Amino acid sequence: GAENCIIYVRSEYTLALQRLTSAIHDAQKLGFLGNSICDTNFSCSFDIVQGAGAFVCGEETALIASIEGLAGRPRMRPPYPVEQGYRDFPTCIHNVETLCNVPFIIAKGASEYKKTGTAASTGTKVFSLVGNVKNTGLVEIPFGMNLNTVIFEMGEGTVGNKKIKAVQTGGPSGGCIPLSEFITSIDYESFNKLGVIMGSGGLVVMDQDNCMVDVARYFTAFNAEESCGRCVSCRDGLSQLLFIYDKIVKGEAQITDLNTLRKLALHIKDTSLCGLGKTSANPILTTLKYFAHEYESHIKEKRCDSGVCENLFEALCENSCPLHMNIPGYLALLLEDRIEDAYELTLRANPFPGSIGRICHFHCQMRCMRESIDESIAQSDIHRYLADTMFKLGSYKTIWNKLIHEKLNANGFSVAIIGAGPAGLTTAYFLARLGYDVTVFESRTKAGGMLRYAIPSFRLPKDILEHELELLKKLGVRFIFNTAIGKSVSLAQIKKQYSAVVIAIGAQKEMLPSISGITLQGVINGLSWLTQFSEGQAYKPKRNCIVLGGGNTAIDVARTLIRLDCKVTVACPHAKSEMTANLQEINFAQEEGVNFLYCYSPHEITGHDNQVKSIKLQEMFPETFDKTGQFPIKQKEKMIEIPCDSVFLCLGEYVDTSYIFNEKTTTNNTIPVDPYTMRVEENVFCVGDAVNGPSTAVQAMGQGKKAAEHIHEFLMNEDNFSQLYGTFAYSKQLPNKIIKSKRIVPRVLFIDDRRNNFQEVILGYSGDQAKSEARRCMRCDVRASTKNLWRNNHHG
Ligand code: SF4
Ligand code: SF4
Repeated sequence: GAENCIIYVRSEYTLALQRLTSAIHDAQKLGFLGNSICDTNFSCSFDIVQGAGAFVCGEETALIASIEGLAGRPRMRPPYPVEQGYRDFPTCIHNVETLCNVPFIIAKGASEYKKTGTAASTGTKVFSLVGNVKNTGLVEIPFGMNLNTVIFEMGEGTVGNKKIKAVQTGGPSGGCIPLSEFITSIDYESFNKLGVIMGSGGLVVMDQDNCMVDVARYFTAFNAEESCGRCVSCRDGLSQLLFIYDKIVKGEAQITDLNTLRKLALHIKDTSLCGLGKTSANPILTTLKYFAHEYESHIKEKRCDSGVCENLFEALCENSCPLHMNIPGYLALLLEDRIEDAYELTLRANPFPGSIGRICHFHCQMRCMRESIDESIAQSDIHRYLADTMFKLGSYKTIWNKLIHEKLNANGFSVAIIGAGPAGLTTAYFLARLGYDVTVFESRTKAGGMLRYAIPSFRLPKDILEHELELLKKLGVRFIFNTAIGKSVSLAQIKKQYSAVVIAIGAQKEMLPSISGITLQGVINGLSWLTQFSEGQAYKPKRNCIVLGGGNTAIDVARTLIRLDCKVTVACPHAKSEMTANLQEINFAQEEGVNFLYCYSPHEITGHDNQVKSIKLQEMFPETFDKTGQFPIKQKEKMIEIPCDSVFLCLGEYVDTSYIFNEKTTTNNTIPVDPYTMRVEENVFCVGDAVNGPSTAVQAMGQGKKAAEHIHEFLMNEDNFSQLYGTFAYSKQLPNKIIKSKRIVPRVLFIDDRRNNFQEVILGYSGDQAKSEARRCMRCDVRASTKNLWRNNHHG
């Protein structure tokens, strides 16, 4: 029986206002609105009221006050608007989106309407899908569809190769859902269980570059600004929350502040009068629940891993390097012609600047600011250049001697490190410099782990690794080879003999596909084969080889086979852009003659006389991923069969800790640690793949460094790790002008010169090239507001 309808629209939505005005005008002209609608006795007028944009006017009583010309503030209920609303008339308030469902229900009936959606959340919902997805815009979906479908299928997933980590729902007071919950059905009940609201239907997709602490701080600031001020808890509580957030993002908070944050948010939720105050806790509570580690890392480590909170990183490149090498520092020193200082700066943070400069996953490049102009800086090629040049000139000796002489006096503590891979060696390097008696146990015959055994010498020549390992020996690190702790000697024994023990065993087991034919002769585990090859013991395959996988191991196997005169095809389940191998290595493999089949998964290996005869591959849709957003899940019709003699399985590795660690492991079989100290229990620490699952060498090294720092705190109770970094003064000048220029490409071996040999392919920078490349750096570390608490207060 309503005779007057009012549509309340924020005045800044000019397009919506234009369209609504014109629609009402048209409806009036056609007799669908106004007096005697469609020649009946029923009359109804429609008016538009423009709101001033106050967020609180989303609350019904504040909205009514605003329409009445009063300040948009909520009032106590009862009386409810249906009894006493606009100008004291009984008033129904609905979203226009809700009313849009009415024609369908009238036309087709409620039971037909209920066929769409879930039992409790019927019908459809319109979402505004925005943020870091390829395909943004409005989507209308039936309730019950899951977030994976909306984000990875309709939104087509991530932009570039960034990892999606969360979606924020329902506007500023909605809440954040982590990737692990994207399997959740979109309906009111499921959202309620996750602690988020549907609200206005916003879905903001966030990736690894979004800091969840900053996200919560931003929305808290918004809600505090928009609070009408009526309730003390909302008015003052939100300002207090913001005060705590400001401390966290500046690196000034204590861990106890998180409890205050949680308690205060719950209090505001329970005691506020209207929806603004009640829901303002959602961004805080959901980020505290699902992203606690980000809060802790801001407080405990003074780090913002996403590189958003300005005081908690120096430059995005340095922040992304797991070893936090002072990249702007060594680039500046190189430009000042202080090449020895530049090398020393890299070496103080990274024991293998030459080796890692060749094979790093280049985490620094992925966040380099220069990319916003043309191409990221080649930080790795420069620290490789510094190490190679020092090696060639022999000047490294002076710097090594400096490190050896400044090594702290023996402190009487001994540390056993189990595993001589990148993580274990890095822990050993820092602990030896701090005065510990370090012994590294290794089951194989030489040190280096994956650097030695999994990376072919055309990428990392063995003499470079051998040379860099020498420094560890000179620092006093003792190596015991051919000894598998956990097998020949138990962890319990080692724990008693040493002051601290570090498990750094890596991920050694290779994943096998669950398809038929993998026991046939000619099916070879790729990583084991590479290891045997590096020791001169590999089985020489027949000519036609298929390599399954899309990571660096697959590419290394393929490029090794090409050098053995094989015909090689790599079949990868992903599109080229989704492969985890370094793009440069994929391109080299193509140049060298490796054939690629993208978006193909193995289906069956066929054989004859127990010998591989062919492989059947199933084509996949590249854009449909599982809930991690990484693995394609939908098959296409097409299946191909390729004749072949050998199939190399390079589908990744997993961790087997059972032989060494008897306690409870994680669901991935990795060893649970305190992520800030890498401590497992008592005097046992763990680093690298045994903690993370398969990761990059430099990520494992970053953990080794962290473990060394905390072992030092644990045994000596001293917080002086920073002295290992030394102090370097260098120019803090911003470049005068940024001129567009592509990354300088290092010299590479001609393709013809790569055939039938294992010579290094990338020959590295000349001096001029290295300096020209360093000159491209925009010096993001030079910022007026930067305090960089991590380097200044924590690490020197
Ligand atoms: S431009 Fe320079 S300082 Fe900035 S992120 Fe890149 S390498 Fe680092
Ligand atoms: S170690 Fe890797 S991530 Fe760090 S600066 Fe070097 S190339 Fe970049």
